Amino acid sequence: MNISITKTLTPKEKPDENGLGFGQIFTDHMFLMDWSADEGWKDARIVPFGPIPLHPSSTVLHYGAEVFEGMKAYRIADGSIQLFRPYDNAQRLNDSAERLCMPEVPTEMFVEAVKALVKLDEEWVPHAEGTSLYIRPFLFGNDEVLGVHTVHHAVFAIICSPSGSYYPEGINPVRIMIEDEDVRAVRGGTGYTKCGGNYAASTRAAERAGQKGYTQVLWLDGVERKYIEEVGAMNVMFKIAGEVVTPELSGSILPGVTRRSCVELLRSEGYKVSERKLSVDELLKAMEDGTLEEAWGTGTAAVVSPIGELCYKDKKYTVNNFEIGPVTQHLYDELTAIQWGKTEDRFGWIEKL
Ligand SMILES: *Cc1c(COP(=O)(O)O)cnc(C)c1O
Repeated sequence: MNISITKTLTPKEKPDENGLGFGQIFTDHMFLMDWSADEGWKDARIVPFGPIPLHPSSTVLHYGAEVFEGMKAYRIADGSIQLFRPYDNAQRLNDSAERLCMPEVPTEMFVEAVKALVKLDEEWVPHAEGTSLYIRPFLFGNDEVLGVHTVHHAVFAIICSPSGSYYPEGINPVRIMIEDEDVRAVRGGTGYTKCGGNYAASTRAAERAGQKGYTQVLWLDGVERKYIEEVGAMNVMFKIAGEVVTPELSGSILPGVTRRSCVELLRSEGYKVSERKLSVDELLKAMEDGTLEEAWGTGTAAVVSPIGELCYKDKKYTVNNFEIGPVTQHLYDELTAIQWGKTEDRFGWIEKL
């Protein structure tokens, strides 16, 4: 792929690496590429970071034609930079795009574009322990007409944001509320895609949970409100009587790269890991009889996030004395060691820049 590069004439000051937070600061450049049904992908370019002009009737503004990815670039001890399973993100973007009738970005092209942008902005990949460059590829429909039809024009874009350590003060368990009113997704819908619309529809429950002091909601299935699905922007895992259980990918759950990595890692070490249906009743029973040993969320941003309290219909349950459990800690240590190049990449998950 031929990527034209227009460098900024006004590079920005690099931020203080100790207060980066998440998603507030952006690098000097962004990647853009246009698609039309007639011509396919064209005009791959890296340009100075800035506004993207949109026609007021652009499809994304009216009909929510948008899918995205979330991944990171890590600076390792020797100063070089690496990505974690980028082809998995590329494939998932295409799975999402297919569902929304948007064009697929060939996976090689996706990874090449990510690498080219990160390379140009490599000074923005922070050095401090636990920090990384968050990468946000996204794809949106850009037809300049109001008629509802499949997308004929689209834009693939990538922006990057240096991000702070998710756990600057050590890993703290979170409180999670099991949502029994709103639903996030149903089978046959868009639950397995990373589309903006899923987030728009889940904000209300997250807001309500936040007002009650909970970090995120745990979604139940949209039909019976009986089976555990996932947490706001994370997949979820439980250790019940020695068995690690995570909901199966039924079509309404986002297939997380971190989820897959945890499952593969634990299985390689001989843990019993089941991807299966888990009802809220089974979970409540395990909390009541003490067989629930650990609960945690998994996602790119936090890697793992231990769950210290679950609330269901106003009844509160403490998990593992509100402490991080050994399997949760082990997953965090192993995955971050691979991501930051502190241990051998025995699964072949690392892609050097
Ligand atoms: C992105 C996301 C996840 C986590 O996926 P990772 O690939 O592990 O970052 C889980 N659930 C939802 C709804 C998501 O959008």
